[in-house]
Amino acid sequence: MTATVYDLHCHSTASDGTLTPSALVARAIQRGVDYLAITDHDDTSGLAEAHQASAGTSLSIIDGVELSTVWERRTVHVVGLFLDAASPVLQEALTAVRTARRQRGEAIAEALARAGIGGALEGARRFVTNEALISRSHFARFLVEQKHVSGKQKAFDRYLGQGKPAHVPSHWPAFSESVALLHAAGGVAVLAHPGRYPLTDTAMRRLLDDFRDCGGNAIEVFSPSHTPQQSERFIEYARFYGFKASLGSDFHDPEESHIDLGALPPLPPGLTPVWSLQEHAGIMRGAWT
Ligand code: AMP
Ligand code: MN
Ligand code: MN
Ligand code: MN
Repeated sequence: MTATVYDLHCHSTASDGTLTPSALVARAIQRGVDYLAITDHDDTSGLAEAHQASAGTSLSIIDGVELSTVWERRTVHVVGLFLDAASPVLQEALTAVRTARRQRGEAIAEALARAGIGGALEGARRFVTNEALISRSHFARFLVEQKHVSGKQKAFDRYLGQGKPAHVPSHWPAFSESVALLHAAGGVAVLAHPGRYPLTDTAMRRLLDDFRDCGGNAIEVFSPSHTPQQSERFIEYARFYGFKASLGSDFHDPEESHIDLGALPPLPPGLTPVWSLQEHAGIMRGAWT
């Protein structure tokens, strides 16, 4: 009997992943994943296809989303798990975020034009796989395709990242509001890849204090964004704050992503896994959808 494999963070073509939900399901099964949370950015439209594709297989889909939020004028991502994707309050909020993404996309294209790169909106749109959702990943893929940069990471380092010429402010919902929204949709709130935010220790403690105070449930300890040292640090923080622990590959694409679906270490002893919050196996298996 091998250990149950959980991967609680990945992206499909419903946001900035390049595999359809069905292809993601097939890959997860092939890689021995037992529970896969599909957590597209600000959109849940991939879930229905994932449930269809996984029906009758060894894989269970967990309904999720990755919310873009603002904390102290920075973007912080909060993953929702075990949620009711049909929640009208959730869907209304997601629609508003996607509108903000569209407006930001126009501003990014204008900024790139000022930096001498024309046609970026049309160019990025060629990589968009869900008409309702445009992401910086799509701009990055355009910049790579047009050979302005040699890879996706470089596109952020040179143009799209914080402080770079095509970085424009994002108008996302407040961090604490987003946690409340996930709870309102029956889900749990997980702080995504905390090691990725360039915060001092003091600011990180403030973020974690705020997350606890607004009812945040879990933090990701294992993520491709984390060095082994950062994973250790967030394991300690999870223990200290009493957060449940989550883990996810944040998989986007077979070529771009260096951690494949399910390729995560088991949670260390002494941490309570986030899936312990899901008491009803029926819901875990997507009985809501
Ligand atoms: P957005 O939510 O549209 O601002 O885009 C954020 C997405 O861009 C993330 O979810 C990643 O997929 C990708 N991303 C952000 N920063 C980087 C980076 N430094 N290198 C590669 N991909 C990145
Ligand atoms: Mn992404
Ligand atoms: Mn993220
Ligand atoms: Mn992600």
